[in-house]
Amino acid sequence: MFICAAKFSGSFLRNSWENLVLLKNDDRSSIGVASDRFLFRTRTMRGNSTCVRSEGRDDAYYMRKCVDLARRAVGCTSPNPMVGCVIVKGGEVVGEGFHPKAGQPHAEVFALRDAGEQAEDAIAYVSLEPCNHYGRTPPCTEALIKAKVKRVVVGMVDPNPIVASKGVEKLRNAGIDVAVGVEEALCKRLNEAYIHRMLSQRPFVTIRYTLAINGGGIINHIEKQEKELGGYYSLLLQESDGIIISCSSLEQYSTLPTSQEPGAKQPAIIIIVPKEGPPLSIPASVDPSRQIMIFLESGATIDPDTEKTLNLLGIEKVMLYEVSLTPILEYCYVQGMCSLLLDVTSGFTSINEMLKEAMVEGLVQKAVVELCDSQKSQQMEMEPPLMKMEWPFHLRNLQSVASRGCIVLEGYIA
Ligand SMILES: [Zn+2]
Repeated sequence: MFICAAKFSGSFLRNSWENLVLLKNDDRSSIGVASDRFLFRTRTMRGNSTCVRSEGRDDAYYMRKCVDLARRAVGCTSPNPMVGCVIVKGGEVVGEGFHPKAGQPHAEVFALRDAGEQAEDAIAYVSLEPCNHYGRTPPCTEALIKAKVKRVVVGMVDPNPIVASKGVEKLRNAGIDVAVGVEEALCKRLNEAYIHRMLSQRPFVTIRYTLAINGGGIINHIEKQEKELGGYYSLLLQESDGIIISCSSLEQYSTLPTSQEPGAKQPAIIIIVPKEGPPLSIPASVDPSRQIMIFLESGATIDPDTEKTLNLLGIEKVMLYEVSLTPILEYCYVQGMCSLLLDVTSGFTSINEMLKEAMVEGLVQKAVVELCDSQKSQQMEMEPPLMKMEWPFHLRNLQSVASRGCIVLEGYIA
């Protein structure tokens, strides 16, 4: 039997063998294998729950149902949050709904519509505070008041300053009993990217890379099965609004990175072209419906055939004086993106400075690392990225999951 553990810090890659002996985890109790989705814990957290027994089941049960409903729209709702709503009467679910995408009605509207007249004197569970402002749709508070629900249970207050607690206040002023904070941690986890964007005016960034399990360092490889339906990489792509890749890493793709999940909204492809790398060359068979953004460092070049394709498809090119993540994140924020996947492969060797900026400036919030069998992998010949990192970054809430033929670890950058 071979047992190893990795120490997760920014410097561990400098000597993989040396460090593949110690598991450092700030929250050991959080290690676990999630059943449906590795980003979610099997053990849900109650936070500051004001859990109350109601008609046979407790509030937390119905709130978890709201979260499950909300996740049906994973990857589709930005810049809006994912929200689920359940209407319960006499211990029975009489209506349910979720927010499918920006511009569409909110979860409460679908759930009330589903419940019809049974909404009167019912309890409405909603994973995020109902809105109280006129946007693209009328306020959900008004819909709940009009439907005469007797009680509203809210998972978390909306961090959006134009909502923040005003929705709860409006409902209470209308004489409705309101409980706030049921399964709050779970609801916050569901919308961690939305919350981060709202509070920082930047997208939530997850860095991803693959390590050889024999300690060979970063490898330019993703297990094939992980790219297939249900694989962790396919799921990551599904939940990301955009994926940032270096133009030289495009060489490993015959097609652009694509989630295989049914109905997945494909992430925008954000390609960085450093001046020291090869000319930008994208696959000839690129899907014209894919959103592509090109960030060119001053002095970077584009393959002539690719230049024609870009012009034909009207793909926007943004010039950067030097490769920097900050303007890219600002650009993506304006585009309404909540979550980005920073995919670190061999192509990022020429932009170590950008990775340094990302870590020092706190531009990356999460790390996802795939540990796989290096014998099946293509070992990197170039110096791996992150190697030069001289400062540690620590992960908290480290979790692991056995995936198809590899181990996937994820944690939040402290
Ligand atoms: Zn609403």
